[in-house]
Amino acid sequence: MLLLILLILKILLLLLLLLIPESESYAFSADINQLLSLIINTFYSNKEIFLRELISNASDALDKVRYQSLTDASVMDSEPELQIKLIADKSNNTLTIEDSGIGMTKADLINNLGTIAKSGTKGFMEALTAGADISMIGQFGVGFYSAYLVADKVEVHSKHNDDKCYAWISEAGGSFTVNEIADSDLKRGTRIILHMKEDMSEYLEEKRVKDLVKKHSEFIGFPVMLYTEKTTEKEVTDDDDDDEEEDAEDDADDDKPKVEEVDDEEEAKKEKKTKKIKEVSHEWEHLNSMKPIWMRKPDEVTHDEYVAFYKSISNDWEDYAAVKHFSVEGQLEFKAILFAPKRAPFDQFDGGSKKKFNKIKLYVRRVFIMDNCEEIMPEWLQFVQGVVDSEDLPLNISRETLQQNKILRVIKKNLVKKCIEMFNDLQENEDTYNKFYEAFAKNLKLGVHEDSTNRAKIAKLLRYKSTKSGEEMTSLEDYVSRMDDNQPGIYYITGESYQAVKTSPFLEKLKKKGYEVLFMIDPIDEYAVQQLKEFEGKKLLSATKEGLDLADDDDEKAAFEEAKEKTEPLCKLMKEVLGDKVEKVVTSNRLADSPCVLVTGEYGWSANMERIMKAQALRDATQSQYMMSKKTMEINPTNSIISALREKADADQSDKTVKDLIWLMYDTSLLTSGFSLDEPATFASRIHRLVKLGLSIDDDDDDDAADEDDMDDLPPLDDDDDEGESAMEQVD
Ligand code: ADP
Repeated sequence: MLLLILLILKILLLLLLLLIPESESYAFSADINQLLSLIINTFYSNKEIFLRELISNASDALDKVRYQSLTDASVMDSEPELQIKLIADKSNNTLTIEDSGIGMTKADLINNLGTIAKSGTKGFMEALTAGADISMIGQFGVGFYSAYLVADKVEVHSKHNDDKCYAWISEAGGSFTVNEIADSDLKRGTRIILHMKEDMSEYLEEKRVKDLVKKHSEFIGFPVMLYTEKTTEKEVTDDDDDDEEEDAEDDADDDKPKVEEVDDEEEAKKEKKTKKIKEVSHEWEHLNSMKPIWMRKPDEVTHDEYVAFYKSISNDWEDYAAVKHFSVEGQLEFKAILFAPKRAPFDQFDGGSKKKFNKIKLYVRRVFIMDNCEEIMPEWLQFVQGVVDSEDLPLNISRETLQQNKILRVIKKNLVKKCIEMFNDLQENEDTYNKFYEAFAKNLKLGVHEDSTNRAKIAKLLRYKSTKSGEEMTSLEDYVSRMDDNQPGIYYITGESYQAVKTSPFLEKLKKKGYEVLFMIDPIDEYAVQQLKEFEGKKLLSATKEGLDLADDDDEKAAFEEAKEKTEPLCKLMKEVLGDKVEKVVTSNRLADSPCVLVTGEYGWSANMERIMKAQALRDATQSQYMMSKKTMEINPTNSIISALREKADADQSDKTVKDLIWLMYDTSLLTSGFSLDEPATFASRIHRLVKLGLSIDDDDDDDAADEDDMDDLPPLDDDDDEGESAMEQVD
């Protein structure tokens, strides 16, 4: 019987549990969880940035719904007014940030605020460990979580037109809940309620909030309204004069009356008739000015205002490097402000799947239309921040129609022109420009590669170290100004590092002749220089490619010609030995000290380019086949090794030692010319044989299998030398 009662009770309990709506709990993704604990546990004093981040999210949400309304006016029906409201509630210790923006559906809340980590989540944590500042959070697209700098519990109520109203709640700690809330007065948009940490009550102070909005959110394009308390003092006739009597008594106690006290007494007498009472009323105070800064005249905008505006659109915590504020009038009208930042963004050129095109906000007659509009800025200028406000584009323009839009093409042309002007202005201060160049050299080089119209102008912005610049960088203009009249062109060498190019044999003769050579060690230089071809009428000449004619003076010429003729048979032999490893073997006057180098065809890949292409995992192998460098071996006929080799070859064309040495010369040239070895093991074996020779190790009987394989047709390195050695031994 008892058992039966227990069973019934158990069933009842289960039924009851089923009836109570269950709270839906979700786990934060591992990355976000880690980010949250970083935000909560890192000691960081500049917590105020949370407000900027949340207001900026609110503004984005408002932009989105306004944009939607351009094609479907009914989206506004739920709440026609677009604004951001702030409510500081000291009695409940909460700060509320509310917007009437697009809102989030239940799925949005779950995905956007906790389960789907963006690339920026990891990026931000890495940046933090590398010493970045928490205030950069917005740049990484995880600004929402900055709420946990000041709050230990966050509630997000959100109402999207397509869904019911839901509440997302979390105290961090690994999970959050999302539940429907029945009777919310939220018509559309998002209300974020921050339950402030104990020591964060300063953010509930009216003045603090006002100052913060002024500082960080002045240029938000929607009204930011603060719920304020107004206390007005009202004079009312007073019947109860106990207080005043007490005052009078106090005064009477004082037996040394002073002037002020006499006044007090007089006032006290007056106050006997009336009494001031405090009346508390509430009102919404509009905190931001909202007049778009780009609509003002440039000379009426202060530097501080530009900085504040820049920070508000870029999420940068630092000042910008340069600004250009201009308007275009005439057939087409638009206003724009462009900023060059000081640093490159963390994800520049990271080739992520979600490609950011640029950082220009497009407005049409003061209405925000879209971010990241591909047609408005070329890829090389994707780091430039700013706004463009067009008078001519239709308001309901969509991404699809933008592509064919002529107006946009003209805007783009103008923006590129102004960007180049802005960078030119930066050149006035060398230090500032060098810093800018360090951050954005790759972009400028990409510009040279991509933008044929502006190529010459962008080329003026390039800087390189050179054989004559020391630790400084030189511009092409400066290079040209130092050029000798009869110097055939601007010489450059591409390679993997300064160390590699500085010591390259390709520089020997150029240096000797006093010609300056630019060092290009950035992979993108290879691409840029292929397009650049010339600068101010001077050809760009690669020190490592074919066809470099370095004319000698008459005496040198005669000596060279003589040696050249004698060396022809050796060239022929070398080509025979090396087979299709080289296209041809020729004598050249390119070298001063080294015996030989491998040069590549004028239009094929340089050694450096071959290295770059080999390193690209996804490269198209078919392209490599015909672009792969056709190597020409250039030998220096006046070099002592070459003349000794020539003599040996002349004596016996089939001398195996000669063949062996030719291979060694080829392998070492691969290395000094910037290629990689085709067969390192064979090269090593040849070197080992040389070492043995140097150490007088006679290993004719050595049956090293590996050596045998490769060296089948190779005789001992030099029989004559062996004889020489034994002769010396005999002398000893
Ligand atoms: P970001 O805003 O840079 O994308 P956040 O972490 O600040 O990154 O926000 C994550 C996402 O949550 C946003 O992309 C947006 O979709 C959504 N979100 C945040 N705040 C709001 C809001 N007030 N209204 C609507 N959606 C919001």
